[in-house]
Amino acid sequence: MTELRDLYQAVILDHNNNPRNYGKLTLANRHAEGVNPLCGDQVNVFFRLGDDVSVKEVGFEGRGCAICMASASIMTETVKHLSVVQADQYVTAFCSLAVGENSDFTGRLDLSTLNILAGVKAYPARIKCATLAWHTARSALSKGGASVTTET
Ligand code: ZN
Repeated sequence: MTELRDLYQAVILDHNNNPRNYGKLTLANRHAEGVNPLCGDQVNVFFRLGDDVSVKEVGFEGRGCAICMASASIMTETVKHLSVVQADQYVTAFCSLAVGENSDFTGRLDLSTLNILAGVKAYPARIKCATLAWHTARSALSKGGASVTTET
């Protein structure tokens, strides 16, 4: 795991050690579960959407590697208080960054923290760890909460 040293920048360590918005939301009206069997990562993402279809509250629970947990924490910080449409744009932007690609939203969103997380693109085996929570969030927000797996 020493090759992962570069990934463990301060921001990732901080989010892994002190995950933001950790815990099940008791008043959630959207939920999805995601699994990454290759690494053993598992996340549950919860949203409480308001009548204006914005993210009033977001939370996650799960277990997994530091990349997965930090990424889930950063995801919750990113999408909190956004509209569902904006949140989905961040999901698209990050999932593109994580594989080293730009998206329509690159340059239109503040991706500074996400760019650090996207350092995972140098380690292909870990990309699914980093994107799991984002795909799971998208499912919860747009697909009625279908379970997500990185292996189909
Ligand atoms: Zn992982």
